[in-house]
Amino acid sequence: MALIVQKYGGTSVGSIERIRSVARRVIESHLQGHQMVVVLSAMAGQTDGLIRLAREMTEDPDPRELDVLMATGEQISVALFAMAVKSMGYDACSLLGFQVGIYTDDLYGKARIQQIKKERILKELEKNRIVTVAGFQGLDDHGDITTLGRGGSDTTAVALAAAMKADVCEIYTDVDGVYTTDPHVCPKARKLNLISYDEMLEMASLGAKVLEIRSVEFAKKYNVPIHVRSTFSNERGTMVVEETRDMEKVLVSGVAFNKNEARVTIRKVPDRPGIAFRIFEPVFESGIVVDMILQNTSEDGLTDLTFTVPKADFYKTMKLVSDTAQKIGAEKVLGDENIAKVSIIGVGMRTHAGVASRMFEILAKENINIMMISTSEIKISCVIEEKYTELAVRVLHEAFGLDVEPQKS
Ligand code: ADP
Ligand code: ASP
Ligand code: MG
Repeated sequence: MALIVQKYGGTSVGSIERIRSVARRVIESHLQGHQMVVVLSAMAGQTDGLIRLAREMTEDPDPRELDVLMATGEQISVALFAMAVKSMGYDACSLLGFQVGIYTDDLYGKARIQQIKKERILKELEKNRIVTVAGFQGLDDHGDITTLGRGGSDTTAVALAAAMKADVCEIYTDVDGVYTTDPHVCPKARKLNLISYDEMLEMASLGAKVLEIRSVEFAKKYNVPIHVRSTFSNERGTMVVEETRDMEKVLVSGVAFNKNEARVTIRKVPDRPGIAFRIFEPVFESGIVVDMILQNTSEDGLTDLTFTVPKADFYKTMKLVSDTAQKIGAEKVLGDENIAKVSIIGVGMRTHAGVASRMFEILAKENINIMMISTSEIKISCVIEEKYTELAVRVLHEAFGLDVEPQKS
């Protein structure tokens, strides 16, 4: 008998019929003797709909109240799922974050899980019930509802699996595993049988939303094996696991892209100590996450500074930076929302030189201009014009040999 944590995403619970079929699937495993903890997302489109509602009410919704609103999506799913299970003759119990005891900090909209109590879930499992837990939500020290950031139900599932020492954490979604790139963008994308935590972490943070970043961080930290698989088939999916020696043989294992960032440039900034701090402090203070930063060498004591932020924070950032620019005597602030970041990822890069130049060459051949570059041990990212994203993904996918199955050595 195993303790299995399963998570079903928005599309998987997108209709009454789909919730019923998830219920049938879970009951099957329950009948095999497994203890089942089922984390659910809101039904497809619900969270977006709730955010739209809030914006109809006010341009800048209060973060605490927005979390109260957004958390309702998952509440609907778990209630309907428990009803479905019961209507099929089995016992179930739906639990919200606060009922489980999923404690987070108070950063509304992007709260971090700090502690999970397992007593309530264990008590329900002992009664031979199928337990379903609302994803994406928690409770802070003030006793208020928080949400974990978009895609956060993955994190709920992995964190629960870690806390409960589950045998496996299965993430059920609308694709049958982790692919070499988004299969909806590149028809030649291939399903991977295995991917290391580090590669998956890079893929997720570089835009592959198949797993939310923090869920992978949790999995790596607590060594939780994740199985990403399809709700609509019984095929084996992709295992996200500790790195193995074989993985190093593959130079590039995936291509990711992110269209959710915008670029901000401050022209002719006086180049003296403390300037970067003056510019970025108000941005960081507002909880805005800055991604790539590029500073040119200075000419006549003046330099240009460029960085990227999430599109959702673009206008706020432009305002903050324009205020600072005026105070420090910079020439002007420019913004560009039509950018995308395209990245190649692979643990094999650690031991191979020349991957970056090959990437630049491939993009150059297609006449795609590179605006910014950043690298780490196992990834290279280029910021390009948004309209070239799909083209860039496909040519990189082909040129790095991902269109074809790797040769077994
Ligand atoms: P869920 O609602 O189940 O959480 P998501 O929409 O968050 O599902 O994530 C699944 C989607 O991730 C897929 O439909 C696919 O378009 C996208 N995706 C992006 N990159 C990848 C990748 N490398 N492998 C698989 N899916 C990917
Ligand atoms: N419902 C939330 C979202 O759409 C959380 C999730 O689905 O993982 O972002
Ligand atoms: Mg998701």
